[in-house]
Amino acid sequence: WSSLDFPWTKKLEVNNKKVFGNHSFRPNQREVINATMSGCDVFVLMPTGGGKSLTYQLPALICPGITLVISPLVSLIQDQIMHLLQANIPASYLSANMEWTEQQDILRELNSDHCKYKLLYVTPEKVARSDALLRQLESLHIRDLLARIVIDEAHCVSQWGHDFRPDYQGLGILKQKFPNTPVLALTATATASVKEDVVQALGLVNCIVFRQSFNRPNLRYSVVPKTKKCLEEIDKFIRENHFDECGIIYCLSRMDCEKVSEKLQECGHKSAFYHGSMDPAQRAYVQKQWSKDEINIICATVAFGMGINKPDVRFVIHHSLPKSIEGYHQECGRAGRDGLHSSCVLYYSYSDYIRVKHMLSQGVMEQNTMTSGYSRSNTTNSGRILETNTENLLRMVSYCENDVDCRRLLQLVHFGEKFDSSTCQKTCDNCLKITSFIEKDVTEIAKQLVELVKLTGQKFSSSHVLEVYRGSLSQMIKKQRHETVHLHGAGKHLSKGEASRVLHHLVVEDILKEEVKKSDVYGSVSSILKVNEPKVRNLFFGGQGINMSDVLNL
Ligand code: ADP
Ligand code: ZN
Repeated sequence: WSSLDFPWTKKLEVNNKKVFGNHSFRPNQREVINATMSGCDVFVLMPTGGGKSLTYQLPALICPGITLVISPLVSLIQDQIMHLLQANIPASYLSANMEWTEQQDILRELNSDHCKYKLLYVTPEKVARSDALLRQLESLHIRDLLARIVIDEAHCVSQWGHDFRPDYQGLGILKQKFPNTPVLALTATATASVKEDVVQALGLVNCIVFRQSFNRPNLRYSVVPKTKKCLEEIDKFIRENHFDECGIIYCLSRMDCEKVSEKLQECGHKSAFYHGSMDPAQRAYVQKQWSKDEINIICATVAFGMGINKPDVRFVIHHSLPKSIEGYHQECGRAGRDGLHSSCVLYYSYSDYIRVKHMLSQGVMEQNTMTSGYSRSNTTNSGRILETNTENLLRMVSYCENDVDCRRLLQLVHFGEKFDSSTCQKTCDNCLKITSFIEKDVTEIAKQLVELVKLTGQKFSSSHVLEVYRGSLSQMIKKQRHETVHLHGAGKHLSKGEASRVLHHLVVEDILKEEVKKSDVYGSVSSILKVNEPKVRNLFFGGQGINMSDVLNL
């Protein structure tokens, strides 16, 4: 697909320079353009900032007819259209909250024989819920004016992904109605299973896939244990490494955003918070201040991010656990778009895992959209989606607890990508450590922990079980008379970190289950460990041991 002999090659070169002001193509751009212009269905995985827009905007410019672009957020669409109009490419969009007369004007233009638009943007619900739009597309199609259909952020189609949006699932209708119109699906994040899901849901035929490495060499990754002093540490980290530079701090809840921002202001940083319950004008104001460097730190939920194009974000800090590796990778990806070194620091505590898990089961996680506040989709779709979310979350936990393997490798494995960790060049915390690593069979420890959970009646938290295992004689343990349990102290020889890694591995492997319990008195969340019998049988009788490397690897 990289050939320079396509009939349109010359036109591509000229317009890429003249209209878009680019000197050359970035990796895969030419290939994607050639494939889609040849009429094929194409699926593109390109990291954020890789230049996906050009792969449909340039064909839209030089092909006759109109390119339909489906994009999740009105704010993103407006941003794109502004850029297109600046480059003198006529483009427009249709959205539900647009004035009726304005919509009529656009529809009239679409119906004219000399329609000036090269691109028409719509949000997915417009396709899923508006017959009028489908009729309009049919009319364009009949007049041979529907050149191509582009689906931006295509991972939103998949329930396996980290950002499922129900309206995206309705997009399969496009291929049914217009089987011969080429579809171009674009995303910056998809695992192999998400990709399969997307291809199937959209009904893409003999689809050509382009993907490139998701490694971001200029980002430095680390995971830091989260303590009570976390905010002081964040202040110190920024002061020492990125003073007065621009960054994002991702927080779990709206309240956290406000708390963290307030603390940083007290420490003399120019910070502000951003989350779904602020009104749109307020959010737009904060975002603008940040874009103009009037404030340099934004403490935000994941509602902040999609469509943020600031090139000089020098750090992304996760104040609490992200809900999936995909989400984490994408959030970190907002740093260092200009190619300069940037830091990604994640503050991890196991108790945050419990919190996130609880929020997922309650369906009160914010999504990364600027329009729709809290997502309730988890509760309404429960079942499979909750299961997927929990699985994604456990992988994130396992990433955090791994203190041996290269962070890049751990992320890229998740995207099905091979990566030679020697190329990390000590740009992650784990590679920085000297890793003389000894394989160790921990099956016995695993068995003891499972046994201990049973012996104590499957009523206690992981930290309590660990304390009993390591022989603590705390008040709580005495009160429960757990110093008399026969495995009390059986794990004395292990460090706290070692024992808890094995235990958490058992949770990740679904051998132990963590049940979230809301305490009645303070409304705080705790969790108790239960044994998942069918899985335990494998561990005890399946002859299947557990090595420390299993515990450490994803
Ligand atoms: P993505 O959608 O993949 O995150 P964009 O399409 O927004 O990325 O492009 C990111 C930035 O890269 C934009 O500022 C764009 O102008 C720039 N860009 C895209 N292609 C090229 C190119 N071939 N040469 C130089 N800059 C490019
Ligand atoms: Zn590394």
